[in-house]
Amino acid sequence: MDGIFIEVEVADSVRGDAELAAKLEEICPVDIFADRAGSVEIVEEQLDECVLCELCVNAAPPGAVRVVKLYDDDAALQR
Ligand code: SF4
Repeated sequence: MDGIFIEVEVADSVRGDAELAAKLEEICPVDIFADRAGSVEIVEEQLDECVLCELCVNAAPPGAVRVVKLYDDDAALQR
């Protein structure tokens, strides 16, 4: 099930980054990221729990993670 209110995008260039996968799994307070054998996986059923804390955006390289507010004309948290 995809999020109704939130979409999280991870750039293909960092999906296989094991260090980032572990970091994202650890920092997201609502478990939207999972570390699957060193790859970043989005836990779809958790997406709408996002609290817009931006920890994931700031933990990743610039442009690597975007949090898209589907309810707000796709306005995005990104850097
Ligand atoms: S903004 Fe915060 S709650 Fe939302 S996905 Fe990123 S770390 Fe998780």
